Amino acid sequence: MQSLIDHARTFHALAAERGVELDRLAAGQSPQALFITCSDSRVIPSLFTGARPGELFELRTAGNIIPRHLPDRSSGEAATIEYAVEVLRVSDIVVCGHSHCGAVGALVRGEDLGAVPAVREWLRNADAPPAADHGPDVARAVQAHVLAQLERLREYPAVAARLAEGRVSLRGWFYEVHTGSVLAHRPGTDDFLPL
Ligand code: ZN
Repeated sequence: MQSLIDHARTFHALAAERGVELDRLAAGQSPQALFITCSDSRVIPSLFTGARPGELFELRTAGNIIPRHLPDRSSGEAATIEYAVEVLRVSDIVVCGHSHCGAVGALVRGEDLGAVPAVREWLRNADAPPAADHGPDVARAVQAHVLAQLERLREYPAVAARLAEGRVSLRGWFYEVHTGSVLAHRPGTDDFLPL
């Protein structure tokens, strides 16, 4: 942890050296996209997209699960999605799964999660991955899972309205933590191909 503290202590000076105009950010944000991905520490959206501060509005959940929309119940996920679409008016929403995902792997393997009941309950928000996937990277299962989350997104009223107006695009991505490659879902197929 100490190296992280040291970096944070000097970040303001580093940012100025690197030409990051932090004072400009005080005026507000206008991100290009809502980026929904897993909480996994190996997945750093700004690293592989090159996004600078203010360019990506992020929602991170275990397994990049998007809970089913429930009209009478609020959640952090629903609030983040609604704010991105209604207030920030993002033009794109990316759902990005990743290889070697522990959450999807646990679902695929039917792991006993009795010791982590909150995780067990959270994963119940996911539809079970449709394909058995015994590879260590669980790539096929994660990609199917990404497509299921995109369908979930369509149930959110704000997203549905913007989609009907043609003012937002949904994108499914898959990030390989072991290669740094990003694949994108080709609409109309089940395929994920290099960006
Ligand atoms: Zn994950």
